[in-house]
Amino acid sequence: GLYEKIAPQDAYKTPINFSSVIQGALSNASPAGYNVTFIYPEEGLNTLAQRMAKRCQINYGKRVVKIDVQDNTLYFDDGSQSNYEQLISTLPLNQMMTMTGLTVEEKPDPYTSVLVLNIGAVRGSRCPDDHWLYNPDATSGFHRVGFYSNVDPLFLPKSAQKTGNRVSIYVERAYIGGLKPTDEQIASYARDVVNELQNWGFIDQVEVVDPTWIDVAYTWSWPGSSWKKQTLELLEKHQIYQVGRYGRWIFQGIAASIQDGFYVGASFAEK
Ligand SMILES: Cc1cc2nc3c(=O)[nH]c(=O)nc-3n(C[C@H](O)[C@H](O)[C@H](O)COP(=O)(O)OP(=O)(O)OC[C@H]3O[C@@H](n4cnc5c(N)ncnc54)[C@H](O)[C@@H]3O)c2cc1C
Repeated sequence: GLYEKIAPQDAYKTPINFSSVIQGALSNASPAGYNVTFIYPEEGLNTLAQRMAKRCQINYGKRVVKIDVQDNTLYFDDGSQSNYEQLISTLPLNQMMTMTGLTVEEKPDPYTSVLVLNIGAVRGSRCPDDHWLYNPDATSGFHRVGFYSNVDPLFLPKSAQKTGNRVSIYVERAYIGGLKPTDEQIASYARDVVNELQNWGFIDQVEVVDPTWIDVAYTWSWPGSSWKKQTLELLEKHQIYQVGRYGRWIFQGIAASIQDGFYVGASFAEK
């Protein structure tokens, strides 16, 4: 893994206080970390996104495959193209560099991919009430399991919202950036995860298992690397402005990424 190779970052996520660690191992310690409290939109993230989308012009199903920075042209995978004066982009920084064909001297910083297994199942007798749990010892290889339906029953089918006998779960496993397993490997891993969660009593019969691959999920830096600075500056010289968590190669949550969008929108509107 990358553990001993990358520069330490985001120390606030793991504030280390040894006496609290010992206390936490033996009994309850006071809460610490980056997500002790968090907010969730009352009507769900979908509604928030849809309300923002109503105020924008969005062209769905348009995947950018190439960007020509000499004549400011975007090429899409459906064969169409479009010109731009200035580009605000949330594409991961490494993918943006590949698409523009621009290069810098520094070697690219590393990243981690994540396979998310979404599972809908009959709730097991030992299913916890937590929102998420980190699992360093799962034998099937995942590192975190979270329970959508413990955040809000809206994450269950309507028929199960009142009975509470179902659970909707996400299970995350990290990979070295870009090393996507084959479909057979994913299917075999999914079977192992389901067996393990059944053995733990978190779930009974499974009704849905749906894998999603997030190619750039967590971004890191080599010690002393100036790749990020060099690439962002070079892109800006070509009127390409990177925003958001993957665009700027930083760690932040959804709320901060939405805020980035509002700031950049407002600053361009004032120009
Ligand atoms: C496994 C996981 C769990 C997370 N859990 C949480 C959490 O619980 N709470 C929280 O606050 N944050 C969480 N995050 C972080 C959160 O997802 C990000 O901070 C947020 O999505 C970043 O928003 P963004 O707009 O910068 O990027 P994105 O949400 O990645 O948006 C980028 C957009 O660009 C589009 N795109 C990409 N390539 C192309 C292309 N070639 N052409 C056209 N469009 C393209 C994508 O489809 C996407 O819509 C999690 C992240 C991961 C990976």
